[in-house]
Amino acid sequence: FNQMEGPPIKSDLQVTYSPPTLDISQFTPSEEGKRSIAEVTIRAKPLGVGKGDIIDKKQSQFKFCGASVKDNSVYFKDSKEKPRNFSYPKQIFNDEHDNQAIFNELMGQHLVNFLDGYNLNILAYGQTGSGKTYTMIGPRGAFDYPASEDSIPSVWGMFPRFLHALYLQIKDDKMKALSISVKQDSMFFPEDLITRKQIRFVPDMNEYIGHKEVILESFEDIVRICKIIEKVRASRSTKMNTESSRIHCFMNLKLYQCNANKMVQCSQCRFVDLCGSERNEVMSEKDEGARMESVLNNFNLLLLLQ
Ligand code: ADP
Ligand code: MG
Repeated sequence: FNQMEGPPIKSDLQVTYSPPTLDISQFTPSEEGKRSIAEVTIRAKPLGVGKGDIIDKKQSQFKFCGASVKDNSVYFKDSKEKPRNFSYPKQIFNDEHDNQAIFNELMGQHLVNFLDGYNLNILAYGQTGSGKTYTMIGPRGAFDYPASEDSIPSVWGMFPRFLHALYLQIKDDKMKALSISVKQDSMFFPEDLITRKQIRFVPDMNEYIGHKEVILESFEDIVRICKIIEKVRASRSTKMNTESSRIHCFMNLKLYQCNANKMVQCSQCRFVDLCGSERNEVMSEKDEGARMESVLNNFNLLLLLQ
């Protein structure tokens, strides 16, 4: 995938550097990791930040919208209705938390469970422009900044941070290997995002034919692969109805671990940057196809949440 690197993108991102601060030695594999559980965490994007906000008449009536970390609630107030409060079981992050802070708070336990052999799915769900790609991968240009094993840019999202933290755990261990495959999926055309070729699902085998799995051997591999993903996802994200707002992106990791009896254990982790869950009244009325696809996507997402 060397050939796919383009010229660096000029960017006005505010980027700081700090050594990775997640200390996973404070976590031990938990009982929770052994059960199938779902957790919901909310991240509220600061209003007006970035170019993806959908400003429509209805939305501009909102006088106040905030996320309260203290009591785990999100509240809306518009001119007509009473303030509405939504409570969530796990956690809420607002603009006081950057990607690194969220990663440190959320991912340590999952990382340890994954290393212990348990599977993990992390899905980002929300309307186009709400910050899914920013949170999962990073903003546009995030991987054009210098990065090293000891120092990664503040803007890196959950997926590259998870890869980096995993890599640090296994790099000196010859009995462990980490692989990645990346798939984009709309309703009709699954595509391998690394080879940029269409792939085909064969139900009898429960597998995608032609889907490439790449072994990650160095820190540079992580940066290269994230750059490919970011170029496709983040750069096309700023308008509703664009391609990336209708395509799911699945980043699959497999961790192979060989024990003393030469048995190989494989745990799988999937990060999913879902397509936008649009409010249909703001979809283009002219593009009936896109509208229909959005309705179906919302329906699929509803099923997923159940
Ligand atoms: P989505 O993937 O949900 O469509 P994006 O992640 O592309 O949305 O975000 C839309 C825009 O908002 C982008 O320009 C992104 O850089 C910016 N953005 C999103 N979340 C944040 C945040 N927490 N802080 C600053 N900018 C953000
Ligand atoms: Mg996106």
